Amino acid sequence: MKYYNLKDKEEVVDFKTATIKGQGKEKGLFFPENIPRFDPEFIKNLQQYSNEEIAFQCMIDFVGDDTPSDVLKQIVSETINFEIPLKKINENIYSLELFHGPTLAFKDVGARFMSRCLSYFLKDKNKKVTVLVATSGDTGGAVANGFYKTENVNVVILYPKNRVSEVQEKQLTALGENISALEVDGSFDDCQNLVKQAFADDDINSTFFLTSANSINIARWLPQQIYYLLALKQWQKLEKENPVICAPSGNFGNLCAGILTDFRGLPVEHFIAACNENDVVPQYLRTEKLELKETIATLSNAMDVGNPSNFVRILELFGNQFNELKNKISGYSINDKETLQTITKVYEKYNYLLEPHSAVAYAAMEQYLKENPGKKGFILGTAHPIKFPDAVKKATQITINLPVSLEKLMKKEKKSIEIQPDFAELKRFLLNKISKL
Ligand SMILES: *Cc1c(COP(=O)(O)O)cnc(C)c1O
Repeated sequence: MKYYNLKDKEEVVDFKTATIKGQGKEKGLFFPENIPRFDPEFIKNLQQYSNEEIAFQCMIDFVGDDTPSDVLKQIVSETINFEIPLKKINENIYSLELFHGPTLAFKDVGARFMSRCLSYFLKDKNKKVTVLVATSGDTGGAVANGFYKTENVNVVILYPKNRVSEVQEKQLTALGENISALEVDGSFDDCQNLVKQAFADDDINSTFFLTSANSINIARWLPQQIYYLLALKQWQKLEKENPVICAPSGNFGNLCAGILTDFRGLPVEHFIAACNENDVVPQYLRTEKLELKETIATLSNAMDVGNPSNFVRILELFGNQFNELKNKISGYSINDKETLQTITKVYEKYNYLLEPHSAVAYAAMEQYLKENPGKKGFILGTAHPIKFPDAVKKATQITINLPVSLEKLMKKEKKSIEIQPDFAELKRFLLNKISKL
């Protein structure tokens, strides 16, 4: 498979190059040259395949030229080596629990896949890569965990001060080794802007080989398709009609991966883009105008994004046909008050504990089902409630116990360096503190 740059279609690269570079010229995102269809028999009979086989089939067309089958098999099986259950909340709404991985967030899937690909591509090369990544909370932890002690890779994570939860902060800052955490006195968009400036800076680029680990990177974005297939495998046992799928969305990598599986032939009734008050996409779906906005800080902080980077990929999938896009995706914006009310209600009524992101998805799903009676579907449960204990406690009075897997981490010391949202400070840090090419 080849990938072209959405900003400059002349730039065409293979999977390996796209993974190592992260993005193309003019900061353009890479996009697959064609959309490989699933074999309809495979889709009909998902239940007959193991999760590893499904994951392998899902990815082979995208990476097959650059990665031998046995290597890809190994990578996908490590990517999904935790359970991804589809749990029933009530008659019409299920939750695909994507939070049983090592950092208790769905981003583990993409981060694990990408780190293993990068590590494979850098093997035997005398090349050091610096992964520079901005996080609103969960990306950083998943990337830090995925890349921890990976040879020839340094990871620098920028996160907004006071806007991530305690567990999230520990996951970013306590590992050390090849992982550095920069605490930016600003918003997630400030972090993302700093990262973008670094990618455009000549001094930095002549000193380091930089790459991104946000869902901009195809090796993080594409493997997210896998769990839509794993969801359908379970769904087909439970329900007859095709599911409505609702993804709590920020940068839209997750939803875009789901839509890609639909284009490949996965039977999905409809998609819902569930946003918090950062509602650029729901507003676009109403008005056909994409108006980027300053981010608003909310309880679902991983979705506090005012300029969703993967949205251009969604537009590309639909060939920029607004009406087709609107027929397949609905958008809703849910505020913090509704988010908390949803956590309370779902806990009291169904004894199911949501955290703020999945609560946004639940509330959006509920609105859609009200407008479209008779349909059923699932939300993507993107994080474990323990990652957002304050909101959960406020809504339900429940204090969640720390899972055993986190106890050790929480006792470790936070190690971060505070910087202002000023590119000169980031540049100084990189040039002085990170080992060179
Ligand atoms: C990152 C994240 C999201 C948003 O995912 P996108 O792919 O950026 O749209 C939603 N929920 C949680 C918990 C996240 O960490």
